[in-house]
Amino acid sequence: NLSLRLRTVAAHIHREAVMADIGSDHAYLPCYLILEHQVVYAIAGEVNEGPYQSALHEVQAANLQNKISVRKGDGLDILSPNEADVITICGMGGQLISSILEKGKTKIEGVKRLVLQPNVGADTVRKWLMKENWILVHEEIIKEDGKIYEVLVADWDWDKKEQQPYSEKEELELLLGPFLMKEKNEAFVEKWKGELRQWEKILQQMERSESPDLAERKASLQKRIDSVKEELSL
Ligand code: SAM
Repeated sequence: NLSLRLRTVAAHIHREAVMADIGSDHAYLPCYLILEHQVVYAIAGEVNEGPYQSALHEVQAANLQNKISVRKGDGLDILSPNEADVITICGMGGQLISSILEKGKTKIEGVKRLVLQPNVGADTVRKWLMKENWILVHEEIIKEDGKIYEVLVADWDWDKKEQQPYSEKEELELLLGPFLMKEKNEAFVEKWKGELRQWEKILQQMERSESPDLAERKASLQKRIDSVKEELSL
């Protein structure tokens, strides 16, 4: 049974696509997509030996070797140009996801959709997508086993590159997610209330310190707290 987190990712992958899952670990997502006949072919990439062996094992156990290619290598190095329609990168920090995309830029040509699930730092991913003219088309935020996860979906469409979902509140939208901000579901409110508690603790610690070079950081943190509170009507 695939986790709600990875099913949420799966829901954004086109039928009949060729997909590549980078940092696939057990290759649960590619196996699910093939068994559900949702995609025609899948590639599971892993940089580390242990997870790579887990992926190989899982694919062999399900007898899916002719539908899933398990490859060992760093990030998008394992792909040939124009091989995949959809790339997924899940269960890592936003910084790592962005650096994998940045390093593998030449391999992304021909890819139509990215489905990314950062555990933290989704804002870093949104900023990378924006810088590279990927259009953010959907976002989801869900809670599973007490943890909150965000899923970002971006499409490549050069003709629509001006149609980013950001407004004059861009700075806040990059942090919270333009779609998630509109929806404001329970998981969203819980996540940001938790972040606010953390930031307020940090701010209190800063207040106690006399260091003058903290002034700027304090002011910017206070500004962020105020704008998130306002957005949540707190
Ligand atoms: N994607 C799966 C999921 O969401 O359940 C596994 C997530 S697991 C926490 C992260 C995986 O990414 C690890 O198995 C790790 O070995 C792999 N990984 C980290 N950096 C990578 C890179 N540069 N290229 C390929 N895989 C990487």
